[in-house]
Amino acid sequence: MRNKRAIVWFRQDLRLHDNEALLDAIASADEIIPVYVFDERVFKGKTRYGFPKTGKYRARFIIESVHDLRTSLRALGSELIVRVGKPEEIIYDLANKAKSSWVFCNRERTEEEVAVQDALEQNLWSIGQEIRYSRGKMLYYTADLPFPVTHTPDVFTQFRKEVERFVAIRHPLPRPETFEPVFVLLEPGEIPRLEDFGHEDDPADSRAVLDFKGGELEGLKRLKEYVWDTEHIRHYKDTRDNLMGTDYSSKLSPWLAQGCISPKTVYYEVKTFEKTYGQSESTYGLLFELLWRDFFRFMAKKHGNKVFQEGGIQEKTDPDWKNDEDLLQSWVNGQTGIPFIDANMREIKQTGYMSNRGRLNTASFLVNDLKVNWQMGADYFESVLIDYDVCSNYGNWQFVAGVGSDSREHRELNILAQAKRYDPQGDFVRLWLPELAEVPQDKIHQPDSLSEMEQRDFHFQLGRDYPAALVDTGKWN
Ligand SMILES: Cc1cc2nc3c(=O)[nH]c(=O)nc-3n(C[C@H](O)[C@H](O)[C@H](O)COP(=O)(O)OP(=O)(O)OC[C@H]3O[C@@H](n4cnc5c(N)ncnc54)[C@H](O)[C@@H]3O)c2cc1C
Repeated sequence: MRNKRAIVWFRQDLRLHDNEALLDAIASADEIIPVYVFDERVFKGKTRYGFPKTGKYRARFIIESVHDLRTSLRALGSELIVRVGKPEEIIYDLANKAKSSWVFCNRERTEEEVAVQDALEQNLWSIGQEIRYSRGKMLYYTADLPFPVTHTPDVFTQFRKEVERFVAIRHPLPRPETFEPVFVLLEPGEIPRLEDFGHEDDPADSRAVLDFKGGELEGLKRLKEYVWDTEHIRHYKDTRDNLMGTDYSSKLSPWLAQGCISPKTVYYEVKTFEKTYGQSESTYGLLFELLWRDFFRFMAKKHGNKVFQEGGIQEKTDPDWKNDEDLLQSWVNGQTGIPFIDANMREIKQTGYMSNRGRLNTASFLVNDLKVNWQMGADYFESVLIDYDVCSNYGNWQFVAGVGSDSREHRELNILAQAKRYDPQGDFVRLWLPELAEVPQDKIHQPDSLSEMEQRDFHFQLGRDYPAALVDTGKWN
């Protein structure tokens, strides 16, 4: 009898450890054909408001992750077939040529991803093959929830208490040790370069918090470094709201977003650390944030496309919101005249990363102070973030805009108070806004309050070297 073949379609699960789709395929088939497709719509297309759908930091990170995955598969005697195009056509074609029986993949839950997997499923049916879906995104499995997913509490605390009380997190699945080599002759295909997607491969900005390198190996290395080698996890609670440096938070988000590391692996690594050194608010703090990640994914499952709509999951709207392109561009380019906002926006533009504190402030500023439709901000973050995760991004934006999972009306932050609290010396602002380098600490967050003489003393001129503030900062005093 002919050997049974299965294609494993890697998506945002670019790892060998804890990869349910891969293990399911190995359990069902005699031969495995691992495939990754760079979806041309995702890597070459534009977002709704005209930004590149996958900005260059994330594109580079994914390219590196695919290289890493191929290297790991080759070490096991296998191969990663790589293509650029539409997965529903390419994988169908490969399945047809390879005469496989199934395509295994970890299921996605949001509109664009679901459309692709549905289209592939339809195509496969036409040749008598089918998709088998596995699970691999979260700490908690839907099947383990103490409530039907459609009854997931919309308030995080309620969700957290229920899952923590009733559900044990499953252990990560093992990494496969060997593979049956593929006997079909399929061209491995070249992994594209950044330039193929229209991006220039510039050197990294030396101010970046971390030189993020894609791949399972690098992700596991960062986890080990943060938890065991440096033990920075011990201080997570006290440092997580900082803005500068590599270790104020775990920086695991890009690897988690592309599935280079599994959240369960992070969870059990922290649990092992706790067993050795004891539990603390810091160790729990990190796991608590991973729960937010799960929560937003369950929200997307429960509410479907409402997570992308202006009225959010609460289906309400703010009549003052506008789709103002000029204001959006000032915000994107770090030219709002509010140093704390501009420093954060320049960081994300030049590195693809921004701290959680920065994200909360820049989002609040766009929505509450500039009164720009939150969807425009979310759209830009979708483009630029190295760690873009559809559910975490849209969920957090809705949260800030007051249309998502929160009982409070608006999460409006006092930007000046936040700036003084989280950047008291102005070091972060000076790092990203060199034009304000000489402005002293007590004036750095409000350059628009400086007289012309003071501006001369500090070697900058408002309106020439740095823009006048787009909003009256007096409102925050
Ligand atoms: C407007 C806005 C947009 C955001 N967009 C994204 C996004 O696209 N992708 C993304 O991963 N995170 C997003 N976040 C959440 C958070 O800012 C980042 O996860 C975090 O800054 C990543 O850095 P870290 O890995 O060092 O986080 P740590 O503080 O070390 O946290 C550990 C992990 O927990 C998860 N996590 C932490 N905070 C959150 C949160 N608020 N919501 C969901 N998960 C969280 C992440 O996976 C993170 O890697 C967004 C937050 C805001 C306010």
